[in-house]
Amino acid sequence: MTNTTNQTTTDTTTMTSFDQIIINANLATFSAHYGFDVHIDSKENGKSTSADHAPYGQLENAAIGIKEGTIAWIGSNEQMTPHLSHYQAAQIKDAVGNWITPGLIDCHTHLVYAGNRSNEFEARLHGASYQDIAAQGGGIVATVSATRAASIEEIFAQSEKRLLALIKEGVTSIEIKSGYGLDLDTERKMLTVARQLGDKYDIHVSTSYLAAHALPPEYKDRADDYIEQVCEWLPILHKEGLVDAVDGFCENIAFSSEQIRRVFEVARSLGLPVKLHSEQLSDIGGSALVAEYQGLSSDHLEHLSEADIEKMAASNTVAVLLPGAFYTLRDTKLPPIDALRKHQVAIAISTDCNPGTSPLTSLLLAMNMGCTLFYLTPEEVLAGATINAAQALGLSKKGRIEVGCDADLALWDITRPADLCYQIGLNPIEDIMRQGQWSKG
Ligand SMILES: [Zn+2]
Repeated sequence: MTNTTNQTTTDTTTMTSFDQIIINANLATFSAHYGFDVHIDSKENGKSTSADHAPYGQLENAAIGIKEGTIAWIGSNEQMTPHLSHYQAAQIKDAVGNWITPGLIDCHTHLVYAGNRSNEFEARLHGASYQDIAAQGGGIVATVSATRAASIEEIFAQSEKRLLALIKEGVTSIEIKSGYGLDLDTERKMLTVARQLGDKYDIHVSTSYLAAHALPPEYKDRADDYIEQVCEWLPILHKEGLVDAVDGFCENIAFSSEQIRRVFEVARSLGLPVKLHSEQLSDIGGSALVAEYQGLSSDHLEHLSEADIEKMAASNTVAVLLPGAFYTLRDTKLPPIDALRKHQVAIAISTDCNPGTSPLTSLLLAMNMGCTLFYLTPEEVLAGATINAAQALGLSKKGRIEVGCDADLALWDITRPADLCYQIGLNPIEDIMRQGQWSKG
């Protein structure tokens, strides 16, 4: 595809005015401009019929020009070489033939919370049942208690370590949910910490209001009353600039689709996009509801029906798959991957970082699990942590390498993109660019 880069130019003024340039790079662009089409494998029974298809949207021996935090030019190394003398050494990054992907995007996390639940993990391995643990105040209630009791500084300090683990693996955008407060003050505290983390580390943080996560103990047997509170708190926190999207947990053990609908109505009145934890344990119509509200994503989906997949396809709702929870719970019911492919629903992969069902702070490992546990291809899981994860967060300028997109990039010491999904426990990151600035040197 190197000959069809209609975005290139040899205009000298342009070629000498970049803030930063990258040379000798192999790019996994995930851009349709360079032949990326993740759905191609599902056409014609896996036989690609498109001569324009390039796996990963790859461009070899490429160069990039960056200006004001944006990708301003992409072309061949040969086109850039005559202009190198215009740049100081500090402005030139020689990728020495390594691979660059878009900065990774973790689009479903509960990363902000206090305490942890390793005591429950240990107790279960000594034979305690979930009921035993719940009777002792364990489970989600334990995290709610710890998060309510912690100061904003304590929550920040604990959450920061988890974020740094993700950042070190090339994550440049992340979604962070509330949902361990279940009261106004603590939901606010969590969302404030999420914003503070984004500011401190100069990464993009999308916040999701997830007060409809679980029923707090003080509302026992009064779920409708609690949902009324959830609906009242949302405009308050939105007005404070803390909410980018609205989430919920639609499940027999959490809230019904009718209860979630009430929250979504408030979201719609505020112009906020919605998403949902749906069909993880049973099928009670969560994804159909998200599709009805033109939601960004429907997440988990092990029990999703084909009829609801068609609705998701029609509403452009992303299917966010969470193999870390599948692994931790030793689940055996696979999400309907073939039907998602057949209907060309965009698939994203995320850590679901949370203290109970997915204490995972490695997006690379989540990608490996996506291949090994869900039988996704390396191209699918990488798209799931870049372009499709960006779609799941409504970020139109992230998740692909293309002129006009944000200069969020990850440089990897690998020989093929699939190395990122294949290796377990090795982090081949070389450098990370966030908004046009290299962060590792
Ligand atoms: Zn979740």
